[in-house]
Amino acid sequence: MKKVSILGSTGSIGVNTLNVIRELKDEFKVTGLTTNKNIDLLEKQILEFQPEIAVVGDEDKAELLRKRLPSGIHCNVLSGEKGLLEAASKGDYDILVAALVGFAGLKPTIEGLKRKKRIALANKETLVVAGEIINNLARKRNSEIIPVDSEHSAIFQALVGESKESIFKIILTASGGPFRSATLEELENATVEQALNHPNWKMGNKVTIDSATMMNKGLEIIEAYWLFGLPPERIEVVVHPQSIVHSLVEFVDGSIKAQLSLPDMKLPIQYALTYPKRLRNNFVETNLPEIQNLTFYEPDYKKFRTIKLAYQALEAGGTAPCILNAANEIAVEKFLTNEIKFLEIPKIISEALERIPYERVKDIETIYECDRKTRGFINKIFT
Ligand code: MN
Repeated sequence: MKKVSILGSTGSIGVNTLNVIRELKDEFKVTGLTTNKNIDLLEKQILEFQPEIAVVGDEDKAELLRKRLPSGIHCNVLSGEKGLLEAASKGDYDILVAALVGFAGLKPTIEGLKRKKRIALANKETLVVAGEIINNLARKRNSEIIPVDSEHSAIFQALVGESKESIFKIILTASGGPFRSATLEELENATVEQALNHPNWKMGNKVTIDSATMMNKGLEIIEAYWLFGLPPERIEVVVHPQSIVHSLVEFVDGSIKAQLSLPDMKLPIQYALTYPKRLRNNFVETNLPEIQNLTFYEPDYKKFRTIKLAYQALEAGGTAPCILNAANEIAVEKFLTNEIKFLEIPKIISEALERIPYERVKDIETIYECDRKTRGFINKIFT
């Protein structure tokens, strides 16, 4: 039995990871669960899966949860960033599912990597801001990073048995999000409700807004760069509205491999847990005649500026992707609270990339400093 600790167990990836484990009870045991604020759901998860450790972002809520748990349940409830780090650095697990949202996922993921564990990585921001540090650490400590992001899982699966020299390019598919066929004018007036209405995937708010701006694909380009080690010009994006082909690899002989299925995050999550094995499940049945059409076309880079901004940050290197990510996180928050309009998201990111000087990444402190600086810079614009 493999022991699994899930950072971010009440989010969309966390809940789906538990759905997978519930079906594969003989293979996996849950030893750690964490939430930022959702103690009601965490309580249910603790009662069902009986982990050794649970972490709540807020200490008051952690205390409330401790009082609510029945005496027969032996679960050590910790709190705050300190608790998260302790769960990652001392908890008993074979696989760490890194499913926290945004920059917050970085430190605990690093703790997991230091311990030669398998990291099932759903937190793409970790690689975006600190790809080089993460890769060096994984190499040095011999820990595995298996992508959970559906596109990167597809590429990872297509690359099983292939050598790096055989790869010509990677083609990331993008659904195009809710505004795929919207006009620039419609984007100008896009509401939060429209942006949260993703046609194919049910996900958390941050990644859903990122899908609407297509910054999600921008972040995934950078994520792919660090996971698969190809130069930016060999990482392409193609819009594929059906979300059946989850991504493709083109090899030097012209052959292309793709991974297909109905969109369901349980598949890439399960693969990250069971790799290199595949196990039977009852999650999806992909009926090709029912799907009928698979279509592909070029993204509209004028409508979705974020993709070019991500390439720009990747080419610039150093702290540029960290600036891109921090600016995006703040802009998305401000859009969700109606402080800014939809098209101001790329504007803010572009301005941050233009005005904040890039630095070489010496260590993790450089990343923290850059994240702080960028957030400060943007908050100043709005005060
Ligand atoms: Mn994805």
